[in-house]
Amino acid sequence: MNSKKITHILLAAALAASLLAAASCSRANERIVEDSRFFMGTVVQIKVSIDPAKYSEARAKDAISKAFDEINRIEDVYSVYKDTSEISRINRLRKNERLQISDGVFNLVHKTLDYSERTSGAFDITVKPLVDLWERAKRTNKLPDEHEFKRALERVGYKNVALDETVRTIHFKKDGISIDLGGAAKGYATDRAIFILEENGIDNAIVNSGGDMYCLGKRTARELWKVGVQHPRDRNRLFLEIGLQDRAIDTSGDYERYFVIGGKRYSHIIDPRTGYPIGDSAVSASVIAADSTTADILATAMCVLGEKGFGIIKESGGIDAVLVMFEAGRLTAKMSEGIRKRYDISEEKL
Ligand code: FAD
Ligand code: MG
Repeated sequence: MNSKKITHILLAAALAASLLAAASCSRANERIVEDSRFFMGTVVQIKVSIDPAKYSEARAKDAISKAFDEINRIEDVYSVYKDTSEISRINRLRKNERLQISDGVFNLVHKTLDYSERTSGAFDITVKPLVDLWERAKRTNKLPDEHEFKRALERVGYKNVALDETVRTIHFKKDGISIDLGGAAKGYATDRAIFILEENGIDNAIVNSGGDMYCLGKRTARELWKVGVQHPRDRNRLFLEIGLQDRAIDTSGDYERYFVIGGKRYSHIIDPRTGYPIGDSAVSASVIAADSTTADILATAMCVLGEKGFGIIKESGGIDAVLVMFEAGRLTAKMSEGIRKRYDISEEKL
């Protein structure tokens, strides 16, 4: 080898080493601090990315702990599993009896009613009697009889919920109405956790409430947060990976909470218009939006509406969706227009 060639190789090696050093130097500044807790029947994971020179690990842990406190508070207020929650108090109201409610509950109920209008009732928080009916079917391994089914369906209808903006009260226009924010409150809890982290000086974080996520800022100076979406029929595989910044992504589907009676699979998502768990309209839906509450609501709505839901996604502006459904007996993924241009997506075969 001549000396000129050797110089070139050495120069190239030096350049590569200096690039590597620069890369590891900027990467070494960031550290991920994370913790997980069990809330709302699921695991909530929070990761924050900090530069320890500017923000200590102890402060990061304290910020995460405050975010968990907020989720804990939300569970106490919004849970239908707790008799003492504000939602359970609302559910004990009789026809036309008014209850003054907190701003948080008022605003979330208001938002869900708005989406009930926009989705023509595919998303409906008054679906609770049907949720309870199908929960009982799951427990007893017996399908509901026609009489029970009719009775539950009669007690569903978002138009029976009324809010009074001036005095911040809620009332039901009919006896037997009840609400369940299970399709929206995990997303809301994610948004609130992000709010608390930001309030505590965190600029880069990811909150994952059992599939309802928000990516704040970036993972490192040059890396986005990468979010994986589970294959809907194989929990050990991801079928999508998306790089996100300041965006929420929420996934709903028939694969985490479902039950089987007589060989037929039933989802925990109900079509409030028919009273039945969703069928072939969707296996799963992931929605990307500017906030996790909206993404949570629309992911549930997309599961009910199937492909028709893309119309609402388009109308909403700035929102994207990935729908997985069966087509001619095969799992197929459909995506909103332009999603690949807006996001860095890697996709596995379904
Ligand atoms: P999503 O699709 O986001 O929501 C589905 C849920 O929304 C259903 O479970 C039902 O409640 C409701 N729903 C169904 N169909 C519709 C529809 N068409 N329109 C509107 N809503 C619909 N689980 C436990 O096992 N134990 C607990 O103690 C518990 N506590 C919780 C407390 C809170 C505050 C919340 C938000 C959830 C809690 N959960 C708990 C989980 C809850 O029961 C739901 O299963 C969960 O929210 C479903 O979320 P998802 O993302 O899987 O599905
Ligand atoms: Mg939802």
